[in-house]
Amino acid sequence: AGRDPNVASFHQRKTAHGDRLLGGLLVDGHDQKSCHSRYQSVVYRRNAGRQPSQYLVSKLRSQEALQRRCGPGTAAYTTALEQLKSGKSTASPECKYLVSISYRGLGNRILAAASAFMYALLTDRVLLVDPSHMMDELFCEPFPNTTWLLPPRFPLLNYQSFYLDTPERYGRMREDGVLGLGAGERNGSSAPAELPAFAYIHLDYNQTDHDKRFFCDDDQRVLRGIQWLVMRTDSYIVPGLFLVMAFQEELAMLFPEPDTVFHHLGRYLFHPTNQVWGLIARYYRAHLASARRVVGIQVRVFPWEAESPEILEQIKTCTQQERLLPAVLDDEEEEEEDEPTTTVSGAKPTAVLVTSLKAWYSDKMKEMYWERATADGEVVVVDQPSHEETQRYNVRPHEHKAWAEVYLLSVADMLVTTGQSTFGYVAQGLGGLKPWVLHHVKNGTVGWPCSRDVSMEPCFHVPPVYDCKRREDAGLIVPHVRHCGDLPAGLKLV
Ligand code: GDP
Repeated sequence: AGRDPNVASFHQRKTAHGDRLLGGLLVDGHDQKSCHSRYQSVVYRRNAGRQPSQYLVSKLRSQEALQRRCGPGTAAYTTALEQLKSGKSTASPECKYLVSISYRGLGNRILAAASAFMYALLTDRVLLVDPSHMMDELFCEPFPNTTWLLPPRFPLLNYQSFYLDTPERYGRMREDGVLGLGAGERNGSSAPAELPAFAYIHLDYNQTDHDKRFFCDDDQRVLRGIQWLVMRTDSYIVPGLFLVMAFQEELAMLFPEPDTVFHHLGRYLFHPTNQVWGLIARYYRAHLASARRVVGIQVRVFPWEAESPEILEQIKTCTQQERLLPAVLDDEEEEEEDEPTTTVSGAKPTAVLVTSLKAWYSDKMKEMYWERATADGEVVVVDQPSHEETQRYNVRPHEHKAWAEVYLLSVADMLVTTGQSTFGYVAQGLGGLKPWVLHHVKNGTVGWPCSRDVSMEPCFHVPPVYDCKRREDAGLIVPHVRHCGDLPAGLKLV
């Protein structure tokens, strides 16, 4: 598997230049010095990825224009802030906004920002990302000549702590009848029913059924009239947006291949800043550039978990059974082996890139490929950039390493990930790679070690269970939204 002689070498990719604008996803003319990664990603990615539709490309250009016309620093933005302070919605605002709260792990934050962007594209809103949790220094600015970051002194002072008890929570206003389905609509000649200046969309794991009405057509009609929305999610809500009928036609035009939504939006939005890019580029050149192929293995373990021989066994069995890595010989077999035929410096190795909070798994793999010969003589080099031991938040070097490792996984030729991890989801989506997913070890036993995912898309972990009329399983309504293999209650695009 994966022995593709056509895989261009690092040098070839570097000189050929490839498609540095990713099929029109990116525009030329961004300052290159301030963000090396933007136009260089193509040199590092071993898998070229998929092509965006022309419709998506033109939609991105008009979103950029919208962000420039209405974003921070414009007269429209100042007016909209005044409106927000006044507490009342205006009948036909010039510009509408979506603020995305940043919280939890890096994978969560990336999926949240991508989801918010998708929703902003569909509803002609300006996206403004909460700069906290290092969102302002992990990523370059995606929109030319404006900013996607919410500026300081936002009038909703405590927006980062909006939660279930926030009076303006959409689900709560719906439940309490403060907002009816007719809100904002003109009935006859009378003035429209009053809408609030903003609503808080709560899509965290403990969202109520009323919050989940966000994914219903009737509710989207109400939300359309509200100038400011503040959204909290740590998940990838895009599969839910595909359930809203009003969005379906547009989504089909934007993404004729529905399994590429995060792939394209992720490659458009998330460019590592120069410091992080330094970590990526130096690691790549030192450990991966000369490899014949790169196999990424994400071992998501938690700081409090002991080293697990079962998980190690699972990784070995998975990679060998699926022919991602060669099997090793036992002592007797090795005795009978002929001498290796390749010259000492001739054969290019297979590089295995392991990411994990613990070093133990990659140490054991490394040991195995040193102590034993491989059946086909292939040389396997195993390495892991860091082992941070614990999860930390808002700690610069830790966040930088996490982002660098997600990105490095994404440049591999093939990926093995741990189920249910947003860290792995981001890597597979950016890379355009359908991963082999390690199943969770239950009570110390592993059944089948891993299986190939049905698509590279992230799984939406806490989606609506039913359609909006509560009759049908949400995973059976539209053909390309299905339950996830790694989390059966979740939904994903296929
Ligand atoms: P998830 O919890 O697996 O869904 O992934 P998240 O990225 O949302 O949160 C996990 C956090 O733990 C990451 O953001 C990192 O801070 C840390 N972490 C987990 N695994 C790794 C790893 O392999 N490498 C590094 N550097 N950090 C990790």
